[in-house]
Amino acid sequence: MNEPTAALPTVVIGAGPTGLAAAAHLVARDQNPLVLEAGPGAGTAVREWSHVRLFSPWAEVVDPAAEKLLAPTGWNRPEDASYPTGGEWAERYLQPLADALGDRVRYGARVTGVSRSGRDRVVDADREERPFTVHLVTAEGREERLTARAVIDASGTWAMPSPLGGDGLPALGEHTAADRITYRIPDFKDPAVRARYAGKRTAVIGSGSSAFTALAGLADLAREHPGTRTAWVLRRGVGESTFGGGEADQLPARGALGLRAKAAVDDGYAEAVTGFRTSEVEREDGRLVLVADGGHRLDPVDEVVALTGLRPDLSFLDEVRLGLDERLQAPVRLAPLIDPNVHSCGTVYPHGANELAHPEPGFYLAGMKSYGRAPTFLAMTGYEQVRSIAAALAGDQEAAERVELTLPETGVCGGAGLFDEPETEQGEAEGEGGGCCAAPATVQTADLEPPAPTGGR
Ligand SMILES: Cc1cc2nc3c(=O)[nH]c(=O)nc-3n(C[C@H](O)[C@H](O)[C@H](O)COP(=O)(O)OP(=O)(O)OC[C@H]3O[C@@H](n4cnc5c(N)ncnc54)[C@H](O)[C@@H]3O)c2cc1C
Repeated sequence: MNEPTAALPTVVIGAGPTGLAAAAHLVARDQNPLVLEAGPGAGTAVREWSHVRLFSPWAEVVDPAAEKLLAPTGWNRPEDASYPTGGEWAERYLQPLADALGDRVRYGARVTGVSRSGRDRVVDADREERPFTVHLVTAEGREERLTARAVIDASGTWAMPSPLGGDGLPALGEHTAADRITYRIPDFKDPAVRARYAGKRTAVIGSGSSAFTALAGLADLAREHPGTRTAWVLRRGVGESTFGGGEADQLPARGALGLRAKAAVDDGYAEAVTGFRTSEVEREDGRLVLVADGGHRLDPVDEVVALTGLRPDLSFLDEVRLGLDERLQAPVRLAPLIDPNVHSCGTVYPHGANELAHPEPGFYLAGMKSYGRAPTFLAMTGYEQVRSIAAALAGDQEAAERVELTLPETGVCGGAGLFDEPETEQGEAEGEGGGCCAAPATVQTADLEPPAPTGGR
């Protein structure tokens, strides 16, 4: 890298938990980060699910370098063993962290394109000597262009929920039924939301933690408003491990969430409809009828809650030479570690700059986006990623290759993913005994002893 390029900032896309942690690690290594955030504040995406309680306690969602950066401001980590909501995570940690980073964070700056300065993706000549060019549009609609020595894209996947269709495309009629479909976990504490679902029949689609949260919330609503009913629509069958690891889960609140969803089914508030791949959404007497591939029709519902996965937005990375796995849209070396087709466990393994590298040197996907469509991302995985990336960018290869984290296991194979499960066709039998629960050797461990359960959402 030539001298002028080395002096340029490292652009970090997104002021979510991963992007802000990346900036903290870069500052700790005397690097010069510039965080570009599309929204008006830190944790814009997290604030959109502010009502959802995390299943990770505070101790596991605060980055160590961020904590060091915050210490001189008088910031104290909230009680380790308590579980924040998304809103609390943003208010009590992400925003103070962004404030401590000062003018290294810009809000209202949506990145619309990344490339090599003066080189489109086809051109080889001098490519690696050229800085990156980053195009953005401000909240006022003004276009800008910045140059950067490196780019860490930590823009998450929140903005791209997967559609209903079993083939990954919108089901026929899905768009025109949009007034009755939400792709987010409803906030059942909000009176307007309660009124929307109380006494109604709702289809919840998906089998990850987001679906479990919705099932549990609808069951609570049904206890107060008899007549509230849920059809829980899954592509696969329901088996022992469908609800996660329960008490065997090393994240107790995550295990508890699965048990609450199971109770919703066992207590008769939710009826599981299995082997159902939605292909059409029809309107019938003001209600919606979901139609499966084989023509099977679900009894009419009033509302649909679609929690079928999230996807990375790669549209603004067209000019970057990405090395992505064709299934997961995750970096090729990371994908085999997290592929739900192969790894039936929700357990994930720590990794760093090497696994996250692309054919375009100096460009990284980090955080939730680095997992592409895999459902098992944890915040602490992202913190470890950006620790390693910052070390690599600072030229400390030894630190970049070191693994400083051991992740908690789900306690289940062949079961649920963590968030919005992009259900693989992996059935129970196939999932069982996949052998993926054997964690690889790790060098050093953070203190991840799980606290006593306090219940999920
Ligand atoms: C409901 C829910 C519950 C979860 N619970 C847990 C939990 O208990 N424990 C756990 O470890 N993990 C949990 N996760 C997973 C994960 O830790 C979070 O999703 C986390 O917010 C991911 O952080 P991130 O920084 O990678 O992405 P995000 O939080 O999505 O942040 C990305 C940021 O980038 C911004 N952005 C997007 N596009 C652009 C652009 N083009 N230009 C500029 N900025 C852009 C967004 O506005 C956003 O602020 C949960 C996820 C969800 C959805």
